[in-house]
Amino acid sequence: MPTESRVARRPLEQELISRGVRMTRQRRLLVEIIQSADQHMDVLNLWQKARQQDPTLNKVTVYRTLGLLKKHRLVDELDLMHLESARHYYEARTTRDHIHLACIKCGRIQEFESSLFEKLKGQIERERRFRISVVRVEAGGYCDKCQE
Ligand SMILES: [Zn+2]
Ligand SMILES: [Zn+2]
Repeated sequence: MPTESRVARRPLEQELISRGVRMTRQRRLLVEIIQSADQHMDVLNLWQKARQQDPTLNKVTVYRTLGLLKKHRLVDELDLMHLESARHYYEARTTRDHIHLACIKCGRIQEFESSLFEKLKGQIERERRFRISVVRVEAGGYCDKCQE
């Protein structure tokens, strides 16, 4: 199903190691979970999933690891149309920017990438002489299953 496709991600662990970050066992576990996630996860999702494999893993470690990934610009923090009030979601950065399509009925988040989006970024950069380093586009609406 092409509409469900997830955009490819760079290996986070290697990115961190190449930046000289020391990988502890718990950091490695968290990074693996973020990398392999098939959905956009918030701190609680992430913590719950990590604790299934390591019950000693503290929530503070989740925040610190996310902070580290953010500092190295390896994850994006998203609010996804505020579908769930103030929750923030995290995802590994992709090599190509994508648009998030958020269903306001079932909460499904789809990722969409297009060469037109790349063109639009180019146009903004040319016309405004603005160098884009991060771009976020979200669309809220009804997914194919939730229409009517
Ligand atoms: Zn839906
Ligand atoms: Zn995404």
